[in-house]
Amino acid sequence: MSVADRLARVREQILEAESRAGRKPGSVRLMAISKFHPAEAVLEAMSSGQTLFGENRVQEACTKFIPLLERYPSAELHLVGTLQSNKIRQIVPVVSCIQSIDRAEIIPIIDRQAGTAGKRIKLLFEFHTGEESKAGFADADSVFRAIDSMAGLANVSLTGFMTMAPFTDDEAEVRSSFRKLVALRDECAKRYPGLDLSTLSMGMSSDFRLAIEEGSTLVRIGTAIFGERPA
Ligand SMILES: *Cc1c(COP(=O)(O)O)cnc(C)c1O
Repeated sequence: MSVADRLARVREQILEAESRAGRKPGSVRLMAISKFHPAEAVLEAMSSGQTLFGENRVQEACTKFIPLLERYPSAELHLVGTLQSNKIRQIVPVVSCIQSIDRAEIIPIIDRQAGTAGKRIKLLFEFHTGEESKAGFADADSVFRAIDSMAGLANVSLTGFMTMAPFTDDEAEVRSSFRKLVALRDECAKRYPGLDLSTLSMGMSSDFRLAIEEGSTLVRIGTAIFGERPA
């Protein structure tokens, strides 16, 4: 099946899940995760109307997307993988959002680099909600402290949260992971009424239908669009 066909099928499945959950059609954004797949695959997705992309490694993101974004300025790239401090300068000019903020220390560095690049960057805090992945903030208190530490930073804005559910067939476990993210968002929305924390990035190829039922506003889909990743 072509990338165009797979994309059409995923879009259909998103619409069905929105409808099943009683949510407005179009309330969930589709991000195509193109890691390990070549620029040609991204171009194929772009020609089927896909504009939002995600990569998880800084080097790969830059090599692949700097030329693509020059040719297609309406496309948008987010980083969804761990960010080391020494890669911040490289990634900031290329992305509109970093979804994988997992510690407070990198935020002022991102802010400074965004200032230098003359842009504003959106941030999502990654929250650890499952047993398997160790990535992300471990508890709500460390999230509050990180939000507090952002006061006065002009070039970054927190717009929501991201999580990865454990990779399991146990539907209850997956839902419970998504519910933890929703609960964190609700708690933060109450505590910080001035912030717009409406983005909930949750759901991948294997679990995006559940994520949409649990309130996801952005699903990150790789395999179901581009096929298995080359080893
Ligand atoms: C790879 C990746 C995805 C997409 O995974 P698929 O199972 O291929 O859909 C989503 N989010 C993150 C953070 C990833 O690293």
